[in-house]
Formats: sequence, C-alpha cells, structure tokens
Amino acid sequence: MTIPFVDLYSQYLSIKTEIDLAIERVIKNSAFIGGEEVSNFEKLFSEYLGINHIVSCANGTDSIEIILEALGVGEGDEVIVPAISWISTSEAVSRVGARPVFVDIDANYFTIDTSKIAEKITSNTKAIIPVHLYGHPCNMTTIMEIAKDKNILVIEDCAQAHGAKWQGKMVGTFGIAASFSFYPGKNLGAYGDAGAMATNDSNLASKLRQIANHGQEGKHNHVVEGRNSRLDGLQAAILSVKIKYLNEWTVCRQLAAINYFNFIKSEKIQLPKTHLNAEHVFHLYVIRVNDRDSVVEHLNKHGINTAIHYPKALPFLKCYEQLNLSETDFPVANEYQNKILSLPMYAELKENQIEYISKYLNELA
Ligand SMILES: *Cc1c(COP(=O)(O)O)cnc(C)c1O
Repeated sequence: MTIPFVDLYSQYLSIKTEIDLAIERVIKNSAFIGGEEVSNFEKLFSEYLGINHIVSCANGTDSIEIILEALGVGEGDEVIVPAISWISTSEAVSRVGARPVFVDIDANYFTIDTSKIAEKITSNTKAIIPVHLYGHPCNMTTIMEIAKDKNILVIEDCAQAHGAKWQGKMVGTFGIAASFSFYPGKNLGAYGDAGAMATNDSNLASKLRQIANHGQEGKHNHVVEGRNSRLDGLQAAILSVKIKYLNEWTVCRQLAAINYFNFIKSEKIQLPKTHLNAEHVFHLYVIRVNDRDSVVEHLNKHGINTAIHYPKALPFLKCYEQLNLSETDFPVANEYQNKILSLPMYAELKENQIEYISKYLNELA
C-alpha cells in the first residue's frame, strides 16, 4: 500500500462535475480577475465565518502583510509571533518594516504559550499574531485579555484553521482582523495561490481592499499607492464549490484523528492533544517521536509518506541569525523541532489506511 501525505486529486474526483462546470463558466464569461465569482466567494466565506467583511487577495502571506500595512504597523514597531509557524507570519512583519518578536510555544497544544507573552511586550509592541497552528485554536480568551490590557492589536493567522473554534466561536472573528490562506493543501484550498482578510471593521475593510488593488477607490482613482494582490475568478469559482463541503471534510479530518488516537498504541509516540475549549480542525496531525529519522525511514519503507512542519523553529532560521536568539529562550520549540512528525491527514484518508499506518508505528514499541 502507498499512502501519500495529502491527496488533492481524490478530492477533485469527488466533486469533479461541479468543479469542471465552474471552470468552464469562468472561461466562458472571461472574468479572470475580480468580478462576480470573486464577490460571490467573498460573500460565501463571510457567511461561513459570521463576519461582516471578507476581502480576498492573492495569497495568505500577502493577507498578513496588507493587514499590518493597513493598521499602520511599520518601522520601529514590534509584533509578537509564535516561535513555530510557517515563515509567512514573521516574514510579513519584517516586510512592513516592523520587527518580529518570538514567543515560545505551549508544550501541550503547539500554539503560542500565553504565559510567556507579557514578558515580551515593550512600549514598541503594536500587535500580536496568534497562529492557530495545525488547526488547533490558540487560547483566545487569554490573548484578548492581554491585548486589551496592553492596548495591542490582535491579527489572527488562520491559514491552517478554517472553521476551528475557541469556546464555540470561529477563529478569525476575535481580533481586529484575520488572515486566511487557500493554498491548495490547506483545509479549504484553491487550485493555485489564494488568500483572504476578514474583519468586522468597515473602515479597515475599505483600506484593505484599496491596498490590495493599487490603492484604487473606484476605477483609476488611486488615492494611495497600493499593490497588486487580487484573487482570480478561477480560484474564486473553485473555492465557492469547495466551501460547501468544508464542514463535511472537517468532520472527516476529526474522525481520522480519532482513528489515529484509537489505533496508535506505541508508548514511544506522543499524540496531539486538544484543549477542552477548542474545536480542532486537524489541518495537520502532528505526533512527537524521539528518533524521528528512523521512524520516517520505517514508514517510508512501507509506502507511508510523512512531512515535518517545520524542521526548524523560526528563531533559529538562517534569516534571523543576526537577531542572535538563544535556544534557551525557546526551550519547547527547540526540543519539538527535532521531534515533530506530521502523519498523512486529509478528508479522504480511510480508516484502513490509518490502521495500516498505525500498525507500523506500533512496531516501534
Ligand atoms: C500557509 C500559511 C501561510 C501563508 O499562506 P500562503 O497562501 O502560502 O501565502 C501563513 N501562515 C501560516 C501559518 C501558513 O500555514
């Protein structure tokens, strides 16, 4: 048996008729950038989240950057980010001229350790970007309290957490704005790059829309210099088909996680935990093992593909070398970067496949 890490083609086959029709429709109407397909998807996604405004853009990285720019975060400002995330989170901060300030992750849930945020806040701290890593929501109760107390902005990075909830409330609806990615492998994925920004603030929404479309306020009225970060019609049409299935696919991911939990018996493996207040959407199923290389090799030998998210925590990347960050400042991230291993996880993953993967993991016991 061969089990891929993700299987985007089998998902396409399950909705092929609808997707093919949507693509044909876009080509026939030739609304390739912006247009009705895009505003329709923005409406569908805002209804899904229960938020007033969705402003689509070219990708998730842009969405973080545009939000920071619109909020006036820049030179001299500091922005708190978790020590483990995809680089976009900190990259966007540096791109607008601000400085990312890393905080270690929580040993149980992989998300930012809220007990270590306060000590990193200075008079220059302008914002915090909690990342709902692997699909597990951050502790938004504590984060919102700290932010209110210290008067800092909260920008949620929801790239891995479409539909996740903290205390029954959708992630992406807590802060002043939230960033979403529809990169193909995400829980809601396009067939190319795509992203969106979410907010309840209508002034901010107009600013975001302006920046993402060359600073235009109506055609040819460039009120500021913006940039080109737009969603195309094909991606919007595809996402509008796929969003109807998102809840169903999330349940499949959650069932797959339950199956892993039931089938994996090896005591050498630490399984991911879910906080009692959290609804986890399992973008990734991340276990921890001590001898990762040999586990990867053993699984590989039996046709099972795995991945690592991410092999190096952000503070230790080459691009942050000049910050001279110490490993002892990020003990959990430092330990976990060598132990984390992402197992196959997608809605179409079958129970017998999970049983097969678990069988080889249990041989490690
Ligand atoms: C994927 C991802 C992004 C960026 O999304 P792109 O659409 O690839 O630019 C940002 N943050 C996190 C945590 C991600 O996983």
